[in-house]
Amino acid sequence: MKPDKALNAKKTEAREYQTAASGIFFTVKDVLYEGRSEFQRIEIIRNKDYGRVLLLDGLLQTTERDEFYYHEMLVHPALACHPRPSKVLIIGGGDGGALREVLRHPVEKAWLVEIDGRVIEACRRHFPWLKAALKDPRAELAVADGNVFIEEVREKFDVILVDSSDPVGPSTVLHEEAFTRKLKSRLNPGGVIAAQAGSLMLHLDSHAMKSVFLKKLFRRSGFYLGPVPTYPVGMWCYNFLSDDVDPLAPRRTRIPKGLKYYNAEVHRAAFALPNFLAERLKKGK
Ligand code: SAM
Repeated sequence: MKPDKALNAKKTEAREYQTAASGIFFTVKDVLYEGRSEFQRIEIIRNKDYGRVLLLDGLLQTTERDEFYYHEMLVHPALACHPRPSKVLIIGGGDGGALREVLRHPVEKAWLVEIDGRVIEACRRHFPWLKAALKDPRAELAVADGNVFIEEVREKFDVILVDSSDPVGPSTVLHEEAFTRKLKSRLNPGGVIAAQAGSLMLHLDSHAMKSVFLKKLFRRSGFYLGPVPTYPVGMWCYNFLSDDVDPLAPRRTRIPKGLKYYNAEVHRAAFALPNFLAERLKKGK
């Protein structure tokens, strides 16, 4: 896709403040997309090192170079542990990386529920994997608020993946207890939820608070970790939530071939928590 000359006239750098005092920046080789939806400002730029970079309201969502760390770790732990994942729901994830990873498994159907049709439109043009994934007959796209969709849908799911943005704007609700309860009510028996949970270091308070309600809701609720070089401080947290499924028993035969990061050993290591996180989770709030 050719860069837009008019857009390129202005922008030389994309800067994300991850705290008030530190962050990450990308020099801009080209601006590929810039637009505003009713929910957020959407930008896709090209950077010399990281390739295409998606930003929403100036916050980095994904880069072409390192997106595999995040998407593989969000998707495969849950799908490798579930005995027979057939129906999979993704909430958020409009860049399509999670959908692409789900479709590597022999699932019957995968729903992608993204609130912002313009994110889909922009990513379909600039992230080739989304276009390819949406052509898969097993994929079904709904442009809808995940919080409303989950109340209205009749289907139940084996695995639900929450690929939300950080808790600001329409994404805030996706990090709350009430929403997690609704997700649980749409799980088939033996189902698993995996959700992105934020930065290991910057969101410790939120991990501690979440762990209190997650422990109430699920017999097996846990955190696991994976690196994402361009996310705040580089180490990311995820939740693995289930009443029945053992998070430490991935089936090797069910791990797709050709992945860049995830394997059975990485899986086990991801559930080993550093002392400072384990202690905060134990203490709760
Ligand atoms: N991996 C990314 C991260 O951690 O920054 C998240 C990527 S994905 C682009 C997040 C998507 O969630 C966005 O496209 C956003 O529009 C979508 N989203 C936010 N709130 C939503 C909601 N209530 N229902 C469905 N999708 C939502």
